[in-house]
Amino acid sequence: MRLGLDIGGTKTDAVAVDSDGTVVERVRLATGFGADAVIATALEGIRRIADITGVRPAEFESIGVGIPGQVDPHRGHVSHAVNLGFEELDVGGRLSEALAAEASDAGAHGFAGVASVRRVEVENDVTAAALGAYHLMTAQPGRTARSMAYLNLGTGLAAGLVIDGALWRGARGTAGEIGHIPVDPQGVLCACGQRGCLETVASGSAIARQWPTEDPIPVRALLAAAEAGDATAAAIRSLLVENVAAAVRVLVLTVDVEIVMIGGGLSNLGEWLLDAVRRVLASWAQESPFLASLGLPDRLQIVPAGFPAAAVGAALVGAPRQTVEIVGHG
Ligand SMILES: [Zn+2]
Repeated sequence: MRLGLDIGGTKTDAVAVDSDGTVVERVRLATGFGADAVIATALEGIRRIADITGVRPAEFESIGVGIPGQVDPHRGHVSHAVNLGFEELDVGGRLSEALAAEASDAGAHGFAGVASVRRVEVENDVTAAALGAYHLMTAQPGRTARSMAYLNLGTGLAAGLVIDGALWRGARGTAGEIGHIPVDPQGVLCACGQRGCLETVASGSAIARQWPTEDPIPVRALLAAAEAGDATAAAIRSLLVENVAAAVRVLVLTVDVEIVMIGGGLSNLGEWLLDAVRRVLASWAQESPFLASLGLPDRLQIVPAGFPAAAVGAALVGAPRQTVEIVGHG
């Protein structure tokens, strides 16, 4: 059994995954704000999964965390997690230490002489979701794709790459940051300092900025307005769909992945989004024999609604070989 956590800005998903990679238990918690609260939320998620499954934290084959921000997966260190309320945090170290201390206490009270506590692995949430989505895809009978790009359409836009069955992070962990490819030199200023990035037209934040609304799900309000005949809403909707298609094209032209899997909050648009993006890709193929030869519409898939891709991926990230021996005092 493996344990995975997806620590998001508002909610944390914790899952137990069996040896086949099937989710057997799942809990959802509100994420606390700030370094200590985030660590407390993660520990609570681990305890709750341990309670439900009857498996102690030390007995999980791996424990992994997917978290937004810049992650050093070797050190378990996270920086610039603005939405979680901290600038720097040793997530892997803090969680590993807390679990080790608990296991040591249990040992001291005679429950176990020696407890072997897993090192908690940490991965960027989009990268973890890529692994989770890849796992889900290859678990389907008859699916054997060796490469996949997970296109996360959340608050931002970014991709995680799985090449030959393994994560590809790049030389400095930047692989897949296609949300910051500028597509419009006259576009709005992006948080990264460039203008008109893909993320500024094809993401949840792009919709929220262009279509201010009381609706907690701005894209829902946008699509309703477009459907009702609002020309501005229809133009924003077209910009979204065309630039998601552009992201798919970028991913295939740079890494030639067999599958581009759409995930993240906007993937809740489901078949509607899939069909709309496929129509754009098909229209480009009509103009370009080169693009037609790439078969872009057939490579596109979408993560099934409700599948906790990042939590499952985090569970799979944990490397079982990395263990810390804790000797009990009792
Ligand atoms: Zn940017």
